[in-house]
Amino acid sequence: MNDTVNIGEYCVHCFHSVAPGSGRFVNRIPADVCSGLNYLRLDGYACAECMILDCDRCGKGIALDEDITPDMCNLDGFADHADRVCEDCLTNEEKERWESFYEEDE
Ligand SMILES: [Zn+2]
Ligand SMILES: [Zn+2]
Repeated sequence: MNDTVNIGEYCVHCFHSVAPGSGRFVNRIPADVCSGLNYLRLDGYACAECMILDCDRCGKGIALDEDITPDMCNLDGFADHADRVCEDCLTNEEKERWESFYEEDE
C-alpha cells in the first residue's frame, strides 16, 4: 500500500495554506512527507518556515538555502561531527574551502 493524498496548496508540515495571498506562497517548495499513518503519503508543499533548520553549532535557525553541509566544503564531515552549520559558525579553514568550492563550480 502506497497511497498518496494530495493536500493541494498546503504545507505538509504545519498545514498552513501556501496559496497565493497566504503570505507563504513566495518561498513554498513542492514536498511530500510520510504521515506515519497507514503509510499514507501527503503530497503538497513545504513553507519557508518549516524549512528552517537549526545550526548544529550555535543552534540558531538557518534560512532555506543558507545552511552549509560538509560536502559544500568538499569535506567528508566536519571535525566536530556537525551536520549543518550557519555561515557564522564556519571556521576560517572551512570557510576557505567553502568559498573555493563555489569558485570551482563556475
Ligand atoms: Zn509549514
Ligand atoms: Zn551557527
